Amino acid sequence: MSIAKADVVIIGAGAVGVALSRELSRFALDILVVDRLNDVGGDASKSNSAIIHTGFDAPPGSLESAMVVHANPMYDRLCCELDVPFQRVGAILVAVTEEEEAELPHILAKARANHVYDVTPFTPKQIHELEPAVAPNVRGGLYIPRESIIDPFTLVVAQAENAAANGVEFLRNSEVVGLKYTDGGFNIETTQGAIQARCVVNAAGLFTDAISAFLDIRDFRVHPRRGQYHILDRAAPLGVQHIILPVPTKISKGKLLTPSVHGNWLIGATAEDLENKSSHNTTAEGLEEVVQDVRKLVPAVTTEFAIAQYVGLRPARTPDGYHFRTFAQFPGYLELSGIRSTGISASLAIARYACGKLMEMGILSFPLKENFIARREGIPCFRDAENERREELIQQDPRYAHIVCRCETVTEAEIVQAIHRTPGARDLDGIKRRVRAGLGRCQAGFCGMRIPQILSRELNISMKQVTKKGNGSELFIGHTKSLRETR
Ligand SMILES: Cc1cc2nc3c(=O)[nH]c(=O)nc-3n(C[C@H](O)[C@H](O)[C@H](O)COP(=O)(O)OP(=O)(O)OC[C@H]3O[C@@H](n4cnc5c(N)ncnc54)[C@H](O)[C@@H]3O)c2cc1C
Repeated sequence: MSIAKADVVIIGAGAVGVALSRELSRFALDILVVDRLNDVGGDASKSNSAIIHTGFDAPPGSLESAMVVHANPMYDRLCCELDVPFQRVGAILVAVTEEEEAELPHILAKARANHVYDVTPFTPKQIHELEPAVAPNVRGGLYIPRESIIDPFTLVVAQAENAAANGVEFLRNSEVVGLKYTDGGFNIETTQGAIQARCVVNAAGLFTDAISAFLDIRDFRVHPRRGQYHILDRAAPLGVQHIILPVPTKISKGKLLTPSVHGNWLIGATAEDLENKSSHNTTAEGLEEVVQDVRKLVPAVTTEFAIAQYVGLRPARTPDGYHFRTFAQFPGYLELSGIRSTGISASLAIARYACGKLMEMGILSFPLKENFIARREGIPCFRDAENERREELIQQDPRYAHIVCRCETVTEAEIVQAIHRTPGARDLDGIKRRVRAGLGRCQAGFCGMRIPQILSRELNISMKQVTKKGNGSELFIGHTKSLRETR
C-alpha cells in the first residue's frame, strides 16, 4: 500500500476539523482530513441542539467564552457564502421558580462579563407578548436576541464541499489507529493505510484522549455526556418562534425547546455522564425527563407530536474546559480538546485560532492562494421553491418532477446531486442529512426503499452493499420471495 503525504492531517471531520480544513484551504497547502465514519459531519456535531450561541453564559475569561463570543458574528457571512440555513431567532431564558428568578441577575452579570451586552431582563408580560405558549407562572427571564439556529449538518457539509473545491481531501471510513513522531514529521497509521504529515491536528472530539495517548500524552480523559432529544412535528400546535431556555444547571444548559431551521421543534437534552463512548441509545426515562422538564417552560409540549428521538454525546473532558495545546517535544502537533457543549457555535473561531497556532509553529509556510473559491451553492430545494422556480428546475432536470420523500417533498434530482457532490452521500443517513429525505413524519417509511435503489444505481453497488451509515449497517441481508436484487 502506498504512503499518502500531506502538509497537514486533520483527525476528525466534525464541525471543528472541517471548519479548520476550510480555513486552511485559503493557503497553498496539502490538507487531508481523516475520519473513521462513513461521512463527514462528525459525531457530536450532527446530534445537538443546533443553536449558535452568543456565549452569554460561558465561563467569563475562559477560552470557550473567547471562542464562542468571537464566532457568533461570523455566521452571517459564512452562511451567506456557503448557502447554509441560519436564522437569528433569539432566545428567551425563563425562570419559573423563586430560586431560578434569583439566578437571573447573576446570569445577566455573566453575560456582561462575557461582553454580550445585548442581553436584557424581561418581565412575564414581555415574555408572554413574544411567546404566549410560555408557562403562565413564569416569574421573569432574559432576552438574548442573537442566539440563533442553524442546520449543523449542512454547516459541516457546506464547509467540507467548499474545502474540497479548494483542494482539501477527505478520507472517510479511515480510523487513526497509531500516531508517531519522527524527526520532522508524523507517521499516521490508519485502517486505510499510512500517511506522513508535517503537522497533525487532533480534532477527534470524544476520542481526542485516545489520539494523544498514541504520543504518550495521557494527562486528560474524555467521557461521553449523553443528551437525549425528541423531534416534534411541524404540525405540533406550539407556535413557539424563539429558543426557550431554562436557567442553566452546573453541568449543562438544561432542557430547552428550540425551533429548527426546517420548521419543526427539538426538545432536550438530558446530561448523563457515561463511560461507554458508543452509548447512542435513548432510554424511556431520559426521554420522559425531557418532556416533563420542558413542559415546565412550555406546558403545551406533549409526545403526541414526537416523530423521532436521538442522542448526542458531548465530549466532556477531565480536567474540564476547552484546551488547545501544542507540545515542545512534538513540533507540528496541535490538540483541540474539551469542546463539549458549544463547539458548533465556536467552530469558526476555533478554526481561525488553530490556523494561527499552526502558523506560529513555523514548520510550514502559508502562501495565500490567489484562486480561493469563497462561495458554495447548496442543492436547489424543490420544497421551498415557488411554482415558477419549480418548473425551471424540472426543465433543467426532469428528476425534479419525481418526489421520492413525500413528507419532506424531496425529489430524485436532489438525492442524485447529494450523492455526486464531493464529499458526497454514500449511505441513507448521508442522503437524509443533506436533503432531508426520510426526516419527516413517516421517518422513511415510504422513501426508505426508494433511496437505497437510487444509491445502488448511482454508486454502482448492489442493494446488499447499501448501508444506513457505513460498514456494519447494511440494510438488506438477503432475498424474500417478492424482492429481487436490483442493480
Ligand atoms: C446533546 C448535545 C447538545 C449540544 N448542543 C449544542 C448547541 O446547541 N450548540 C453548540 O454550539 N454546540 C452544541 N453541542 C456541542 C457540539 O455538538 C460539540 O461541541 C461539537 O460538535 C464538537 O465538534 P468536534 O468536531 O470537536 O467533534 P465531533 O463532531 O465529535 O467530531 C469528531 C470526529 O472525530 C472522529 N474521530 C474520532 N476518533 C477518530 C479516529 N481514531 N480516527 C479518525 N477519526 C476519528 C469522529 O468520527 C468524529 O467524526 C452539543 C453537544 C451535544 C452532544
